[in-house]
Amino acid sequence: MTRYREFHRRSIEAPEDFWRDEARRIHWETPFETVLDRSNPPFARWFVGGRTNLCHNAVDRHLAERAQQNALVYVSTETGIERRYTYAELYAEINRMAAVMRSLGVKRGDRVLVYLPMIPEAVFTMLACARLGAIHSVVFGGFAAPSLAARIDDAKPALIVTADAGARGGKVIDYTPLVDEALARAQHKPPHVLRIDRQLAPERLNASYLVDYEPLREQFFDAHVPCEWLESNEPSYVLYTSGTTGRPKGVVRDVGGYAVALAASMEYIFEGRAGDTMFTASDIGWVVGHSYIIYAPLIAGLTTVMYEGTPIRPDGGIWWRLVEQHRINLMFTAPTALRVLKKQDPALLKKSNLSSLRTLFLAGEPLDEPTASWIADALGKPVVDNYWQTETGWPMLAIQRGVEALPPKLGSPGVPVYGYNLTLRNEQTGEVCAPGEKGVITLGYPLPPGCMSTVWGDDRRFVSTYWSSVPDQQLYSTFDWGIQDANGYVTILGRTDDVINVAGHRLGTREIEEALSSHTAVAEVAVVGVADPLKGQVALAFVVLRDADRYAADEARAKLEADLITTVDRQLGAIARPARVHMVSMLPKTRSGKLLRRAIAALAEGRDPGDLPTIEDAGALQQVRDALAAGGKA
Ligand code: AMP
Repeated sequence: MTRYREFHRRSIEAPEDFWRDEARRIHWETPFETVLDRSNPPFARWFVGGRTNLCHNAVDRHLAERAQQNALVYVSTETGIERRYTYAELYAEINRMAAVMRSLGVKRGDRVLVYLPMIPEAVFTMLACARLGAIHSVVFGGFAAPSLAARIDDAKPALIVTADAGARGGKVIDYTPLVDEALARAQHKPPHVLRIDRQLAPERLNASYLVDYEPLREQFFDAHVPCEWLESNEPSYVLYTSGTTGRPKGVVRDVGGYAVALAASMEYIFEGRAGDTMFTASDIGWVVGHSYIIYAPLIAGLTTVMYEGTPIRPDGGIWWRLVEQHRINLMFTAPTALRVLKKQDPALLKKSNLSSLRTLFLAGEPLDEPTASWIADALGKPVVDNYWQTETGWPMLAIQRGVEALPPKLGSPGVPVYGYNLTLRNEQTGEVCAPGEKGVITLGYPLPPGCMSTVWGDDRRFVSTYWSSVPDQQLYSTFDWGIQDANGYVTILGRTDDVINVAGHRLGTREIEEALSSHTAVAEVAVVGVADPLKGQVALAFVVLRDADRYAADEARAKLEADLITTVDRQLGAIARPARVHMVSMLPKTRSGKLLRRAIAALAEGRDPGDLPTIEDAGALQQVRDALAAGGKA
């Protein structure tokens, strides 16, 4: 362990020296003057005065050596389309997109909201934004119109880029009506909406504000748009994530720090070298997609594989066939996908030649031991769990095989990553926990390069949300519980807040509660996350009705439940859909009126709710038990 320990120690004790060395991995148009500005904690500014550009580092920089190497391989099992783009071709497409965006008035510092499915144009759009110095804000294609509207109002984009439709599991999802509704709801009205027409939507919907991309692309076919050289700390993107309030937070990322952190992670954690091929099965709407479908592999000169489709269509062997066909070296996905694949015919994995694959990376949610053992045995290759969050942008815990290949520990994503001063703290006292003692996972100041720099438009919220949970100490809270053993391995024990993790997607239970409350039948609601063998967790809702008598009959209740679920679909999107909505006449609360979500979750998982604070009315817990018993298991 000595090599790892020494490496980590240096990154914490001498961060300036450590990161000055790492900064050599990227191109600086103007060198930075100061490695780290700590003058305004908890804010940290990395590589101050340095000017660079993410698109230049991801694409232009490689043209001299690898213009003819594939940069992007696109496979859609939804449409049957497969495309390859060399670095030279990717460069050309990004320039066309950048010229089109510029012709629509987009300039440095403007926000561009990206509401796109997994298509190559999403990569062009994001990198074109980077080229122009515009700030992209990608909204996951599965989000419904009200969620999209909230993000439009917060980011105030100068342009929205969308498509006619997305597709999942063979089902086409029309985007135009969703964008229409979002624009009708939003206060902010962006001047243009650029549409990529995939010719997928069954109806050719049109709206006066839509500008089609293809004719403009033709017009700017030979365009060359110079990179804007941005100061390292200018924002590169905003990515919204769920928290404890219904209002999503815009996580802001910088430029230079992000590029350096990703480039270093490709060596020390992912061991990806220029010329390798990496397949990250995630979505551009999530942070894993930003960092490891797009920026990191391209910055490091790899070929990245972008996949539209599910892991089981046309059958559960599709991903393994992709590994064979494209000689994939590195693969990255979430444990949920493996749990899905584990239920398929195990022989499918053996049918493909997986000799090119070196390592499988997993992140986004806890990796359970049975899934970890199954995949490690089936593949016979290292499986590297890594723990991080939207806010950090790259892993906080992992076995850093590029530093030292420490033995993995089942159930743990590994040890603290260099740059992160990660400690477990007692929730009340803020003291460092002893080995084996449960605590909140915190990070010391400063956060390393690449982590969030603030909440979009709200510095105060950055401080009050993340840096205020441990009194008198400058500590960032991850809002995760963990336990660390004497060798430094950390096991994640779940969230400290009301955020749940469904199939690797983070959802705020408050958001789902707000959606349900908007239904006229609902007086009160509690949403909790409960364990699910496939998705990790699912949401369960408990509602108190305004007029319970109206829904006394089983049939009326079943109809109302379906109706409430549709309400969540419409407000937030199907990913937030509760597995069940149980009806009760009261909810368990403390005397001070705080909802006892943890007690409800414990009952729903068949656990003892443990010591409870003084409950307003003990009958409420019995109601939850009865509702669960009557409704069966979710
Ligand atoms: P997101 O910001 O959507 O990526 O969600 C981040 C959250 O997912 C973390 O705060 C953890 O609760 C959870 N998470 C991410 N990676 C892991 C992992 N490897 N093991 C356990 N939990 C994880």
